[in-house]
Amino acid sequence: MKILVINAGSSSLKYQLFDTDTKDVLAKGLCERIGLDGNVKHSVPGQEDFVKEMPMKDHGAAIRIVIELLTQGNTAVLTSLSEIDAVGHRVLHGGAEFTESVIVDDRVIDAIRKCIPLGPLHNPANLTGILACSEVMEGIPQVAVFDTAFHQTMPEKAYLYALPYEYYEKHGVRRYGFHGTSHRYVSQKAAEIVGKPAEDLKIIVCHLGNGSSISAVNGGKCIDTSMGLTPLEGVPMGTRSGCIDPAILEFIMNAESIDISEMTDILNKKSGVLGISGISSDFRDLDEAKDNGHKRAIIALECFAYSVKKYIGAYVAALGGLDILVFTAGIGENNYKARKEITSGLEFMGISIDDEKNINNQTDISAEGSRVRTLVVPTNEELAIAIDTMALVEKLVK
Ligand code: AMP
Repeated sequence: MKILVINAGSSSLKYQLFDTDTKDVLAKGLCERIGLDGNVKHSVPGQEDFVKEMPMKDHGAAIRIVIELLTQGNTAVLTSLSEIDAVGHRVLHGGAEFTESVIVDDRVIDAIRKCIPLGPLHNPANLTGILACSEVMEGIPQVAVFDTAFHQTMPEKAYLYALPYEYYEKHGVRRYGFHGTSHRYVSQKAAEIVGKPAEDLKIIVCHLGNGSSISAVNGGKCIDTSMGLTPLEGVPMGTRSGCIDPAILEFIMNAESIDISEMTDILNKKSGVLGISGISSDFRDLDEAKDNGHKRAIIALECFAYSVKKYIGAYVAALGGLDILVFTAGIGENNYKARKEITSGLEFMGISIDDEKNINNQTDISAEGSRVRTLVVPTNEELAIAIDTMALVEKLVK
């Protein structure tokens, strides 16, 4: 099957066209500055990238350009639009309503719209992408894949906040969790790698990138995760604070005479390892600064690793044991120093890694005789979306 995967942002649209039989990416690209001057980058493996400024007044116009690039001229990888079997859309927030991926229909569109207050920055854009594709690609099935879905198996004790219960009932204030497509894909891959059914395994997934989240997966089902109502909770991230004492908000707002929107902006964009170090949100920059003795870069990296380590400890307790610890995403897959710092001192839990395997980013970095297997598994959220989309479309056809 040929599946187009779409990740629509407020003024951007990322796409990848998969052949799900071979799992190959046939083409991928990015439309940016939609509604402004507009530009597009389209890549086909083995060919020079096509990069051009192209005005696109809205997401519909962007989709039309993508289809033209996929089907016409030198950039084409399809002979016609009808070769696309389905479109899979990444949707940030599905609330408690969506526990798995779904074929888009009017009910689904309404439900995604209802989740806009929970994901005000992303859901409107995701919905615009779905509506634009439905219009331009009429008759081609559209599938919504939610970042929150995998986490909806969490028990009440893990997802409830200790706030007046009415806020949960009236406004849906609870933990939802994010990066779910990645946590699901990577935990399934980890089970495949050790050659055991996911049902028999206790797994902790550390998705560590610019945004980071940890999840506890018992028997293939998520039982807890570090992100919450929004992707701001959990460990310190590139620019996000992660967990802090909620009373700090009022304290800083008074001390600095700022309002709640400025405060929220600081928590999302100026905190995390950027906030502590004062130099960068990127771990490569921080590693370099650490090597040069930059004190705040050193403490930023320590705070990050210490926080991830504490989540691992908490989730081992929640799971009642651990079989596999998995690292994924930009930092998890590439940054051996972070993996070393996080896992050091956890030998008493049966987690022990081999320095050489770790430095070489090998798949299995466990030390000889380690009771827990520690794995480095590349995530591929787009492929997971394509696979979900294919499975739903196959059901539809049957
Ligand atoms: P992501 O959001 O998953 O793309 O991850 C971005 C983060 O991964 C940034 O902090 C990068 O510094 C980090 N990262 C990516 N590649 C490497 C690498 N080769 N070595 C160290 N850190 C890396």
